Amino acid sequence: MSEAHVSDSTSVNEEIQRETMDVDVLIVGGGAAGLSAALHLANQISAHNDAVASGSKQGQPIPDQMIVVLEKASEIGAHSLSGAVMNPVALRELVPNFEELGAPMETPVIEDAVYWLGEKTKIKAPVTPPPFENHGNYVVSVSRLNRWLAQQCEAKGINVFPGFAAVECLYENGKVVGVRTGDKGLDKNGNRKGNFEPGLLMKSKITIFAEGTRGSLFQKVSNHLGLMEGKNPDVYELGVKEIIQCPAGTVRAGEVIHTLGFPFKKGVGGTFIYTLPNDQIIVGLVGYLDTTDPLFDPHRMLQQLKLSC
Ligand SMILES: Cc1cc2nc3c(=O)[nH]c(=O)nc-3n(C[C@H](O)[C@H](O)[C@H](O)COP(=O)(O)OP(=O)(O)OC[C@H]3O[C@@H](n4cnc5c(N)ncnc54)[C@H](O)[C@@H]3O)c2cc1C
Repeated sequence: MSEAHVSDSTSVNEEIQRETMDVDVLIVGGGAAGLSAALHLANQISAHNDAVASGSKQGQPIPDQMIVVLEKASEIGAHSLSGAVMNPVALRELVPNFEELGAPMETPVIEDAVYWLGEKTKIKAPVTPPPFENHGNYVVSVSRLNRWLAQQCEAKGINVFPGFAAVECLYENGKVVGVRTGDKGLDKNGNRKGNFEPGLLMKSKITIFAEGTRGSLFQKVSNHLGLMEGKNPDVYELGVKEIIQCPAGTVRAGEVIHTLGFPFKKGVGGTFIYTLPNDQIIVGLVGYLDTTDPLFDPHRMLQQLKLSC
């Protein structure tokens, strides 16, 4: 893959001189989706070129493409949500030998269960309903997994740029042609400090938005281009999650428990507990935002859950 390079200087507004960087594919957001998209694209290009070289496919090889992933966090993984159960099916397609390559799987799931909770009671479901079955899945730290994915990307020559937030979309003739990255070195009132660095204009043939749910920039792009017209609106849940260090020898890694009932009084939601090696547990709670409970407060409810245990 090509090295990133900065070309000419361009002025987009009255006072700031901005440099322009031309890239081939620009991906906004270095979470699992953005990093996987970059890696998949690089793999597809290599596979195409190998097939052309071996004569099994007709066509021209694709020249080196500069693929850039922008991540607003200061390092990859710093804005990722920790502690998740992951079905590895997509990762296996992307990196078939991910275990061999040392992908950070914390533990395989060894047991799963679903409970109905009352304030002081619990009833275990005699069978685990299929959506809650996790055999074959892994408990992972999303932050660590994303850092590993970024290393796989860099090994393929993809440019991963943490510390760069895309703050404005660039259009030409109504088409997205890249983004502007945020200025650095501003004080809390937006005034320039001594270390002020203007953001870059990153021009790209293809721009992929992988900002996660409620991406602030993609929302503007979507409004500008009317991408949600005639589509179902997004549906949101609100959740909180904690990782708790327990006393040594008290936690068996690889258990996945989902619950319904308490502490929810109205509305739909549930809680989850995943256990990790080194006596850590992940505990969280998620509720639909269309709840009829006007006092729905996931932080308070997670405290109620922990106090009732
Ligand atoms: C409470 C909770 C529990 C969950 N549990 C699980 C689970 O157990 N298993 C599971 O598979 N999934 C789980 N999920 C869902 C999972 O977290 C998401 O599906 C996954 O993180 C989505 O990945 P993504 O790359 O699309 O977005 P994200 O992980 O949100 O990554 C987006 C990245 O883009 C960056 N970014 C955003 N905007 C910009 C910008 N303008 N410029 C530059 N960078 C930008 C962000 O900093 C972030 O790093 C859970 C989610 C929640 C809220």
